[in-house]
Amino acid sequence: TYILQNADLVRKETAHLHIDDRGYYFGDGIYEVIRVYEGVPFAKEAHLNRLEESSAKIDMTLPYSGQELIDLLDKLIAANELVNGLVYLQVTRGIEPRNHLYTKNCKPVLTAFTQPLPKKAAAPSAAVHVWLTDDIRWLRCDIKTINLLGNIIAKKEAADQQCQEAIMQRDGFITEGSSSNLFLVKDKVLYTHPATNLILNGITRQVVIDLAKQNGYEVVEEPFPVDVLEHADEAFLTSTTMEIAAISQIKGQLSTSYVPGPVTKDLQEKFRQLLPQK
Ligand code: PMP
Repeated sequence: TYILQNADLVRKETAHLHIDDRGYYFGDGIYEVIRVYEGVPFAKEAHLNRLEESSAKIDMTLPYSGQELIDLLDKLIAANELVNGLVYLQVTRGIEPRNHLYTKNCKPVLTAFTQPLPKKAAAPSAAVHVWLTDDIRWLRCDIKTINLLGNIIAKKEAADQQCQEAIMQRDGFITEGSSSNLFLVKDKVLYTHPATNLILNGITRQVVIDLAKQNGYEVVEEPFPVDVLEHADEAFLTSTTMEIAAISQIKGQLSTSYVPGPVTKDLQEKFRQLLPQK
């Protein structure tokens, strides 16, 4: 399989990493994960816009324009003959001897790979169990940084408790999942944390909010306290890789369970209809 190193397709086995890459020393970089359905990258403009925004927020200039990135991704997808799966792409600030302070000569480095995945949306996966824990992350969760230790610690805690995902609370308010956004449904109204500095504004989140509104659901983007989880009718997670995943059980700081309900199922079906078909 091939990976992209800047604009070059390189065989993965022969690819080399520079030891002075700031991504390696500091996690000084940003990334995106884009789902590919039937060879077509899903919501690629939204992902590339968010990459551009993340880049600007850390005072970095992307090494390629949006169109150049689209062309590079197409080249990678074609080289790997990817039909259903994902593209991971990251841009690190570049290569310099280790020093917290970077110089303006630092040239950003693009790396991208593909990974095949079953086309899940066709048959939504079983409901997931989630683990409620503290949100110990920093205050710029809106930046899609490769620096993911807070998320990794939460995910491992969840896995240790046989949960597929962690959901997090900061100061008593639910923020998001370790690699997903959380929605609650109560009396057909959707509730989710607003797109502030405390969460990553997921592309799937945005697609689902638009879909819900187009289909007549009210969507409330406001922080809600932990105990609201107990009063919801339904709960689901959204992410590029999980798509829309119903939650059947919450454990940890609070215990409650849900039966995957009609609103979640309706949105899963509407989401499926958006995807490129064979
Ligand atoms: N929140 C966090 C912390 C994430 O890491 C992700 C996935 N990268 C998401 C939300 C979901 O974002 P998206 O729908 O763009 O995949």
